Amino acid sequence: MRKAHTIKVYCANCRQLLYKYHKEGPGHLVKCYKDRIVEDHTHGELRCPHCKEEFAREAMIHGKPANKIIQGKVFVRR
Ligand SMILES: [Zn+2]
Repeated sequence: MRKAHTIKVYCANCRQLLYKYHKEGPGHLVKCYKDRIVEDHTHGELRCPHCKEEFAREAMIHGKPANKIIQGKVFVRR
């Protein structure tokens, strides 16, 4: 059974909300598939809109466009 839940992804540097994201399954957040980002507060950029810190890089993961999270740059809350 697939379990999905919405999480909030924040900038680790300044605590700005970056995404609301529909995450599937347990475990650490390593990537955000673009089509699962529910709310994007970064205007499609991979930088924090507040402190401009880069927090992700574009990648294709399993054939789908995704933002690969740079570890340590974000934290996650339910
Ligand atoms: Zn920030």
